Amino acid sequence: MEEFCLRDDAPEEACGVFGIFAPGEDVARLTCFGLQALQHRGQESAGIAVGDGETILVEKDLGLVTQVFDEAALAALQGFVAVGHVRYSTSGGSGVWEAAQPHISAIDQTLIALAHNGTLVNTNAIRARMIDEGIQFRSSSDSEVAAKIIGKVTRETSHLRRGIQFAMEHLEGAYAMVLASPDALYAFRDPNGIRPLCIGELPDGRGWVVSSETCGLDIVGATYVRDVAPGEVVRFNAEGMVAEQAVAPRRHAACIFELVYFARPDSVLDGQSVYQARRAMGRILAREAPVEADLVLGSPDSGVPAALGFAFESGIAYADGIVKNRYVGRTFIQPTQALRLMGIRLKLNPLPSVIGGKRLVVIDDSIVRGNTSRQLVQMLRDAGAEEVHLRIASPEVCWPCFYGIDTDTRDQLIAANLTLEEMNAWIGSDSLAFISRDGLYEAVSGVRHAGFCDACFTGNYPVEIPAPLAKRSFALAEEGKWHD
Ligand code: SF4
Repeated sequence: MEEFCLRDDAPEEACGVFGIFAPGEDVARLTCFGLQALQHRGQESAGIAVGDGETILVEKDLGLVTQVFDEAALAALQGFVAVGHVRYSTSGGSGVWEAAQPHISAIDQTLIALAHNGTLVNTNAIRARMIDEGIQFRSSSDSEVAAKIIGKVTRETSHLRRGIQFAMEHLEGAYAMVLASPDALYAFRDPNGIRPLCIGELPDGRGWVVSSETCGLDIVGATYVRDVAPGEVVRFNAEGMVAEQAVAPRRHAACIFELVYFARPDSVLDGQSVYQARRAMGRILAREAPVEADLVLGSPDSGVPAALGFAFESGIAYADGIVKNRYVGRTFIQPTQALRLMGIRLKLNPLPSVIGGKRLVVIDDSIVRGNTSRQLVQMLRDAGAEEVHLRIASPEVCWPCFYGIDTDTRDQLIAANLTLEEMNAWIGSDSLAFISRDGLYEAVSGVRHAGFCDACFTGNYPVEIPAPLAKRSFALAEEGKWHD
């Protein structure tokens, strides 16, 4: 039986983080704005922790930022340093309040609050050792292990900076973290720089901001300063900003999928405009895989810039032929039988008056399991399309991600199990083509840094995957059994 999934058939995002040090400002409200700008990175829970010089107050809950924070909640969070988090679960359980962030760790009488984007691959053994030492955990979240290990070493050494350094030396995987003590903000990033983290400054020296993406800086009026470097820890307090290389940088491996799909199009990642990268992907796709068609459509929303690029390069008219319902939050969709039957129509609706009788080329950002592409093609045919040609702005996703993105196990990845012709037949498109790896790299050539992680296309993982995890995740579907 075909596996059905109500979420988009695209990699699921895994958290956004925001931090601010700004005496005299309403830091809770500014953090709330920052989290709203980063809401696309996670819709499961939201949280803000504020430091006032003596202690830390935290408010977090399941739901969207606007559901968790009202005026009363923000008014209760008074202070001058704050960290915030929006979550999509890849570790620690889905829909679990205890896994909502920021995580708090108590160091004697002092508290710290930690917010994490990414996934750590070696926390099971560390957690087991800490439990043996009598440390209690409230969730199965890898991020809570990070918070507790920083707290433990800080207590032992009386230096928060050493606690952070110890964690960076011992945690493996992807982490872009912001941490608030009662009087300072810290930002640090794994030595491969897998997940993004950038620094901004408020006007007139009013303070410092850290965000997963530059759209989080823009919304609070901060000016981009630079990205946090791989392996670097940056502290912001009353004396200003101090940066140190805490651990040696390794092969730079920024997630290339941020530019394909995860990041907001108005963000700039390490000098590369996300929107312009996606337009370039579309232009390159049009050169690599041309097709005769009447209209170019983008699968809303992330396929639209690439569709505009494809239309520009090919000379085929772009049309808004698919309307997206923006108000279907996946958090609130229950997978009942009735909703299963509605499938993709919960989120997307075609415009028969635009596409009827037309040969369409439809641009999407990626294909992971293939279910949504199949339903989309059928829906467009039902609405009167004469032909549906799919063009995909990323190469075939053949390997799962272990660094903060939920892309399933290999047996569920369509491109790992079927040939291009088989995929085209299963999805039901008239033709199917993916951008080449070289084409993708050409499209993102505006970045300033030295390298990308592209493991979900190549299986070339920048951080070693523990053998038991790899064994569970790398098995292909049995021959002839894919999607049975
Ligand atoms: S495996 Fe893919 S999704 Fe995961 S970090 Fe690497 S490029 Fe990004």
